[in-house]
Amino acid sequence: MMVGSEPQMLLATFATALVSAALVYAWRHRVGTRPAAPPLRFDFTGLVLLAALAVGLWLYAEDQPHHLAMLVVTTAALLFVVGSVTDLFSLPRGLRAAAVAVAGGFLCYNGVCIQTVKLPFSTVFIHLGWAGPVITILWLMLCAALFARAGTMPSVASGVGALAGGTLYLVCLLQPRVTGEAARLLSLGLFAACIPEVIFGRLLALRGATAGAYTLGFVIGCITVVGALKNTALLVILLPLLIIGVPLFASIFTYAADLRRGWRAVAVAEHHQHLHQLLADQGYSYWQIVGILLGGTAYLCALALLLVWLIELTFVLKLLMVAVALVAGLVLFYILLRLLPRRQPSTGPAEVRLLGVRLHAVTMDEALQEAERFIREDRPHMIVTSDASTIVRAQDDPELRRIMNETDMVTPDGAGVVLAAKLLNLPVRARCSGCDMVAELCRVAARLGRSVYLLGAEPGVAELAARNLKRQVPGLEIAGVHHGYFSPEEEPAIVEEIRRAHPAVLFVALGIPRQEKWIRAHLDELGVPVCVGVGGSFDVISGRKKRAPLWMQRMGLEWLYRTIREPRRIGRLVALPRILWLTFMQLLKPPDHQQHSSRR
Ligand code: UDP
Repeated sequence: MMVGSEPQMLLATFATALVSAALVYAWRHRVGTRPAAPPLRFDFTGLVLLAALAVGLWLYAEDQPHHLAMLVVTTAALLFVVGSVTDLFSLPRGLRAAAVAVAGGFLCYNGVCIQTVKLPFSTVFIHLGWAGPVITILWLMLCAALFARAGTMPSVASGVGALAGGTLYLVCLLQPRVTGEAARLLSLGLFAACIPEVIFGRLLALRGATAGAYTLGFVIGCITVVGALKNTALLVILLPLLIIGVPLFASIFTYAADLRRGWRAVAVAEHHQHLHQLLADQGYSYWQIVGILLGGTAYLCALALLLVWLIELTFVLKLLMVAVALVAGLVLFYILLRLLPRRQPSTGPAEVRLLGVRLHAVTMDEALQEAERFIREDRPHMIVTSDASTIVRAQDDPELRRIMNETDMVTPDGAGVVLAAKLLNLPVRARCSGCDMVAELCRVAARLGRSVYLLGAEPGVAELAARNLKRQVPGLEIAGVHHGYFSPEEEPAIVEEIRRAHPAVLFVALGIPRQEKWIRAHLDELGVPVCVGVGGSFDVISGRKKRAPLWMQRMGLEWLYRTIREPRRIGRLVALPRILWLTFMQLLKPPDHQQHSSRR
C-alpha cells in the first residue's frame, strides 16, 4: 500500500475527479449523439464524487484506508445506488429517504453518531443519550434532502460541497483537538472531488436526476457527525442550503413585498419559487446565478472560519459579529445583484421613474433611432440628457421636474444615474453620454440631408465646435451658431433666426437647468424636430476643455476628472452622494411608492 501525504491525497482526489468527469462526459457525449440513444436519468456526478473520494483515501492510507472515512464512503456508495434506482425508475422519493435512515442507523451502530451538542456560542455541552441516533439520522436526512434540492443546479450543489469541504477542513486544522481525523480526510477529499464537478456538473447530471447531490449531502452530513463541527455546519451548510435549496427565503421575501403593498390574497404557489428561479426570471444567466449563490456561500464560510479563529471571544461579541456580518452581507449581496449586467427583455426602451423623475432606459442606438423618428415626423421634440445633478436639481425645482416629466425623451447621462437606476432595479443598462450624442446626432442629420444649429457657450466656442463637428462628420451642414451669453431682449431675434434656418437638430449649451427651461419656453416657436440640452459639450468638442481619458469615462469617473480640472465645480459633487442617499431612502419605501416602469 502506498503511503501519501495530505497534499498528495488532495492532488490524487482532484485528478481522479477531473479525469473521471472528463471520461464520463466524453462517453455521454458519444452516447448522446446516437440517434436511438434512450433518455437516461442518471446523475454521473455521484460516480465522479465517490470514485475521487475512494481513490484519495486509498492513496493516503498508511496501512489501510482510514476505517471511519471508508465506512462513510462505502455507505454513501450504497446510498447512491438506491438514489440512482429511484431516479432511473422514477420511484417515490421516500425510498431514498428510507435508505438514508437505514444508512444513518448503520453508521450510528458503528460509532458515527452525534452524542453531544454544544450550544451555539457557548461552552455548554448537552449529552443526547438515546436521542443521539435519532438526531443523527434526522440531520443526515436533512443534509441529503437539502443538497438534492440544490442539485437541480448541479454546479451549485457541488460548489457548496467544495466550499463546505474546504471550510470544514480548515476548521479541522484550526481545532485539531475537537475534530477527528476522519472529518479532516473526508472534508479535504470532498473539497478536491467537488471542484471539477462545479465545471462539469451541469453536463453530467441529467435533468431531474439528483442522486449525486443527495449522496454529496449525506457525505457532508457525515463529516459534521464524525468531527465536532455542528456550529460551523449551521453557517456553512445549513444556512446556504436553506437559502438555495428551499423556497423558504425567496417565499418570505415575496410575502414581505406583498405585506408592504398592503395584504392581498395571493396563492401560495405564486410564492413557491426557489432563489435560483427568481434570479433566472430576473434575467441572470446560469453561470451568474452559480456565481451569486456560491459567492454568498463563500461569504458565510469565511464568517464561520472567523468565528472558529476567534473562539475565545465572548458569546455577546460573537453574536454581535454574526448579526453585523449577516446584515452587511445582505446589503452587499443586494448591491452586487443590482450592478451585475443581465439580459433585459428586448421589447424596446422602457420608460421608468427614477426618484420622481421620468427617464427612458435607452442605449445610444435606441436614442438615435428615436431622434431619427422625431426628425422624420418634423414636429418639435425635446430631449433632456439627464445626469445625477439634473435629477437632484429636479427634486427641488418643480419647473425642471415638470419639464422632464413631460418631455419626449430623457436619456440617462452619467454614471450616478445608471448606478441609482440599477440599485432600484430599473432596466437602465448603460449611460448615454450627452457629449457623444452631439456627434452622433450630427451623423443622423447628415445622413438625412438635414442641418444642425449650435446655441450656447462663450463667444467663439460654438464656431470652433461647429468646425470640428464638420471635420468629424462628412457632409454635415451647420445651419448656424450663436453664443450663450445673450440678454432677454436679444432672445426673440435668436429664436427667429433658428426658426428660419429650420435645422433638424438644435443643440443648446446653456447649462442645467437654464437650457431645459429655455428650450421648453421656445419649443413650439422654434419648430425644430430635435432640441437637446447639451451642457458643457461645446467646450469639449471645440477643444477648449479636455474630456476625461477613455478609461475614466468607462469607469464612470468623468465627474472626478472634470472636478480636478475645474475645482469651481466642487459644489456639484454633492449631487452624487445626494442621489445615492435619495436612492437608499427610496429603497426603504413600499413598492407601490417606488418607481414603475412601462414599455413604450
Ligand atoms: N453658458 C452659456 N450661457 C450662460 C451660462 C453658461 O452659454 O449664461 C454655457 C457655458 O459657457 C458652458 C455651458 O453653458 O459652455 C455650461 O457648461 P457646464 O459644464 O456648466 O454644463 P452642465 O454641467 O450644466 O451640463
